[in-house]
Amino acid sequence: MNDAAAKPMNDAVAKPIASLDEIRFDNRFTAALPADPDAANARRQVMGACYSRVEPTPVPAPRLLAHSAETFDLLGFDAELASDPQFAAVFGGSTLLDGMDPHAHCYGGHQFGNWAGQLGDGRAIALGEVVDRSGQHQTLQLKGAGPTPYSRTADGLAVLRSSVREFLCSEAMAHLGVPTTRALSLVATGGMVMRDMLYDGNAELEPGAVVCRVAPSFVRFGNFEIFASRGDHDTLRTLADFVIDADFPHLADLAAPDRYVRFFDEVVQRTADMVCEWMRVGFVHGVMNTDNMSILGLTIDYGPYGWLDDYDPDWTPNTTDAAHRRYRFGTQPHIAQWNLMQLANALYPLIGEAEGLQAALDGYVPYFEQKWSAMMAAKLGLPRLDGDGDSELATGALGVLRLVETDMAVFWRRLASVETAEGIDPAGRIAPLADAYYRPDEVTDEHRSATSEFVERYAARLRSLGISDEARAEAMNGVNPKFVLRNYLAQLAIDSATGGRPEAIGELLDVMRRPYDEQPERESYAALRPDWARTRVGCSQLSCSS
Ligand code: AMP
Ligand code: MG
Repeated sequence: MNDAAAKPMNDAVAKPIASLDEIRFDNRFTAALPADPDAANARRQVMGACYSRVEPTPVPAPRLLAHSAETFDLLGFDAELASDPQFAAVFGGSTLLDGMDPHAHCYGGHQFGNWAGQLGDGRAIALGEVVDRSGQHQTLQLKGAGPTPYSRTADGLAVLRSSVREFLCSEAMAHLGVPTTRALSLVATGGMVMRDMLYDGNAELEPGAVVCRVAPSFVRFGNFEIFASRGDHDTLRTLADFVIDADFPHLADLAAPDRYVRFFDEVVQRTADMVCEWMRVGFVHGVMNTDNMSILGLTIDYGPYGWLDDYDPDWTPNTTDAAHRRYRFGTQPHIAQWNLMQLANALYPLIGEAEGLQAALDGYVPYFEQKWSAMMAAKLGLPRLDGDGDSELATGALGVLRLVETDMAVFWRRLASVETAEGIDPAGRIAPLADAYYRPDEVTDEHRSATSEFVERYAARLRSLGISDEARAEAMNGVNPKFVLRNYLAQLAIDSATGGRPEAIGELLDVMRRPYDEQPERESYAALRPDWARTRVGCSQLSCSS
């Protein structure tokens, strides 16, 4: 039944979907898993069910602000579909299509290290599953589409600024090659939403918006945790078996309890892969609670995330986390491991012994280190980090990045242009790196000599390997992005959209489409963060209020 290689229902390769009523749904999640018997859309604890059926709340004046051509293509949607006047109504939550089965997931989670009980999709409503061009199921999910039984004390809505950020970052991450949920569309609702952006008593009305997200599954660690926490092992097993059959079909033939151990082992690896990619590109998720951890190892729930401008492993964009900075850049690999331990605890009742889960969990650190080592080697343009001082080169590069306020993305691109020939004056050799300094006047002779010491060792190593400068630059520029979704760039797009020029969102997305290319005509998008953005709300500080 859940054969991932099933024939594409949308048969899109032959014929793109040219009208909304041609979209076919195949809702595996709601067909296979227990539903909440209570049909009322009222906030409550939901027992023994994986989801509640709930319809999006119609919005006053849906208007499509942006869409992703690549996600259209993934789903086999014809580009023309975006200009169908009904498109915004459907993906803003006002109109349902035949075959949709809208529902909200029940899940729990550990928030900031503490068990928080039932959370659930408080403002996300999955519309249903389609089959993409490669034959894989994809769930279409609206975020900000109105209250659900899981909305607790909140309104179920999302504001334009956070929706622009989610839309853009999902797609920017995909173009960078980082595992992520995708974004299909961004619709302004025409309604207003009350938010206290910095939680300082200054609530204001802001324009509302809805993003349609797309992923093979939106199941999170917290979907398992909720049933384990309640001792509901039957539903826990039903969910685990469904996820394995649907999303890990290569494990489907394994018997219990092996299948659960192998499943967990794969989640460990996918999570490590994802976080390693975040470290490569300088992404800080900001809210790595277990309800924001995808079982597929996809980056999910773009809230107060941020990108490192200057390289500071202690930085977090999330002001809600300012006191402890649990989710700062440098701790992400460790937090992922902590979250995996919570998932292991949740799966334990299915297995009844800790050994296999523990072994998989113990595998996290060596697996991550191996990934990290390969990733750092690639950033440096080396084939691998092996014995001859290569690890010291990797830590050396990160050490140089921390000497003075240095832009991470610019540094790696400039390092690619450092010449390695013998006999170059050391001051000249490090000259390209100067472009990455935020405060050039603070760079001392001591900094320069520490930088030189690293760069001379690096150049010598490259010479010994016989790697040409051209080949190295090309390889490095393929893994060190020139363009990342700097916080202030997203904020400028939000400002434009709020001021009536939503085209700015599509324009920025267009830059982020080719993050590794030089795009010389777009140099300003790759420049150091301007000084005004250093402290501006939305650029350096973000809260969970969205
Ligand atoms: P987050 O940390 O933003 O991923 O959200 C944690 C929980 O709060 C999830 O259960 C969300 O669905 C819920 N939530 C966040 N914002 C809202 C909102 N505006 N309305 C309803 N639920 C929300
Ligand atoms: Mg969340």
